[in-house]
Amino acid sequence: MRIFRGTDAPRQLVDPKSFVGTAHTQKLADAPDGTPVVVYHVEFEPGARTNWHVHSGAQWLLIVEGRIRIQKWGEAPQEVGAGDAVMIAPGEKHWHGAAPAARGVHLAVNVDATTEWLEPVSEEQYLSR
Ligand code: MN
Repeated sequence: MRIFRGTDAPRQLVDPKSFVGTAHTQKLADAPDGTPVVVYHVEFEPGARTNWHVHSGAQWLLIVEGRIRIQKWGEAPQEVGAGDAVMIAPGEKHWHGAAPAARGVHLAVNVDATTEWLEPVSEEQYLSR
């Protein structure tokens, strides 16, 4: 057993090249035996979101607080809240962030995944219905 305490993980501002708005991330946990699983804790302020991106492996988002807005390329944005979970398949172009008027916090569980960062999510895309 290994315990990862959130208070031990450095909380960092996200890279503005890959996000719009203000968000903080912590790498909370990984697997000491090399199992390719990494868990991130991500806090988005209202209106903040990732750029469009693609993961080479699956990603699970576990929403722990507030409202999270998420969109798959070619579909309308959707909102999820605390207690909900989302699975993003390898290769799906998508973004995730806070709702326009509420902050949102999720855990992201990346399984054998590297991330390819793409273009920012425009206001029109972000607010579309
Ligand atoms: Mn993602």
